[in-house]
Amino acid sequence: MNSPLYGRMMQMPLLISSLLTHAARHAADTEIVSRRVEGDIHRSNWARVEQRARRLAQALRRLGCESGDRVGTLAWNTDRHLEIYYATSGSQLVCHTINPRLFPQQIAWIANDAADEVLCFDLNLLPLVEQLAPQLPQVRHFVLMTDRAHMPTQSALPGLLCYEELLAAEDGHYAWPVFDEQCASSLCYTSGTTGHPKGALYSHRSTVLHAYAAALPDAMACSASDVVLPAVPMFHVNAWGLPYTAALVGCKLVLPGPKLDGASLYELFESEKVTFSAGVPTLWMGLMEHVRSQSLEFSTFRRTVIGGSACPPALMRALEEYGVHVIHAWGMTEMSPLGSLARLQPKHAALPAAEKHRLLEKQGKAIYGVDIDVVNDAHEPLPWDGEHAGHLVARGPWVIERYWNEDDSPLVDVKGRGAWFPTGDVATMDPDGFMQITDRSKDVIKSGGEWISSIELECIAMAHPAVKEAAVVAATHPTWDERPLLLVQLKAGASVTREALLSFYKGRIAHWQTPDDVVFVDELPHTATGKLSKLTLRAKYKDWLVRKG
Ligand code: AMP
Repeated sequence: MNSPLYGRMMQMPLLISSLLTHAARHAADTEIVSRRVEGDIHRSNWARVEQRARRLAQALRRLGCESGDRVGTLAWNTDRHLEIYYATSGSQLVCHTINPRLFPQQIAWIANDAADEVLCFDLNLLPLVEQLAPQLPQVRHFVLMTDRAHMPTQSALPGLLCYEELLAAEDGHYAWPVFDEQCASSLCYTSGTTGHPKGALYSHRSTVLHAYAAALPDAMACSASDVVLPAVPMFHVNAWGLPYTAALVGCKLVLPGPKLDGASLYELFESEKVTFSAGVPTLWMGLMEHVRSQSLEFSTFRRTVIGGSACPPALMRALEEYGVHVIHAWGMTEMSPLGSLARLQPKHAALPAAEKHRLLEKQGKAIYGVDIDVVNDAHEPLPWDGEHAGHLVARGPWVIERYWNEDDSPLVDVKGRGAWFPTGDVATMDPDGFMQITDRSKDVIKSGGEWISSIELECIAMAHPAVKEAAVVAATHPTWDERPLLLVQLKAGASVTREALLSFYKGRIAHWQTPDDVVFVDELPHTATGKLSKLTLRAKYKDWLVRKG
């Protein structure tokens, strides 16, 4: 390669194992703290995680796994799950995380679609796996992620293996193999609001590049001085890449296990001096309820990324009152997941606080590595004027090209600009490139040919002091096709009338966009990833206005 066309740099593939070996060499004693499923607080560090991941890689090979095989996990955020992440990908296997909160039939469908060879799972999920096992003919080995002392004396699973025993049987003399960075590293299924879930198969290259981008100052701004608690589960798009970004910067990781209620999270935030966390809005609502009701304060927690669904401005304000800066982010499973984050630019420094808030409430600007645009039905780009709402498309090295087990590519041809991934979201872009999601395309309310944003209406309702959570869905209407219907769960002990809630919209939104009616519910349904289940609500309330006449 003496040609002047080529650079003269080392040919080193971007492999996930390099993140771990870097952390083990340069942040060896930086802690990995877990609240394990068994109940104890376990303390490890990057060097130990790397040693144990090597043993696990040996064990998986001894069990007969071959390059490219999928190893499924049904597990919470703990050090053992982190070891599995690195042992599988590092040894050229594919880490397939499955959401234990899905319906059992869905879990079985996903494990079979992925053809998982091995299934590793947490102790409290043993009954679930025992129930599922007859439907998983492909799984050759079941591994319980615990030690001998916690193994059941008998189990319906034949040849159930003990995680710690598997590791203890190996010597750890294992060199991480070097292979093509385009090889598959991990597999995550999308929530699948319609039809079957679909698998997004990430590569080593896409994962390492995403980890770099996530760490940048205008993204998650992670550094070695941070103490990071990924509240987003490791089965939801790899905890938004935090297990990789943490290794890249060599920071302390705090893994909360299965307990994600406000009190349990707060306890870890304080005892482990957490500075940064990330999760979906509902999680922070629980945490803030606890902090407020107990008159607590955060002593080290200063920054959080909120995404997965639109962050209500009222929640942002609440966290900010407690000294926590909220970074609103947008992404999706098909995008590894990070696409954009709301961060102000220098030119915004002099803006009044309300205008700064307005920008920070948007889903923000694309990070390098992702390009986004809005297009019309004919896939023609729309103007970036903050007004035109269109289909949001994306492209980049960590955006999906096609789904696992599917031959057809989902990409669309944007006029004159090549192939892009259609996200299924509806958004506006302003002249500075601040993107705002106005809806999922299937959730938008189409009223007499005009579109009404369900997210905007939900955010307004959530700003009412009596409202705990709000959802807005399209209800069939004889004249306007669809009209917005507001469903509300009130805070404990709070009360408000239908009329008072509807008049709360006055001056906050155009009159014709105000919901037609309010339904008070005891609880709103959520999906397995903690988002409002609009599908369930639409099915139940679609005919509400027609029935009411
Ligand atoms: P998932 O693949 O489960 O992470 O879901 C991705 C979808 O969640 C996106 O396509 C959006 O519809 C939604 N989403 C993610 N982040 C946000 C956000 N900040 N605001 C509004 N919707 C979001």
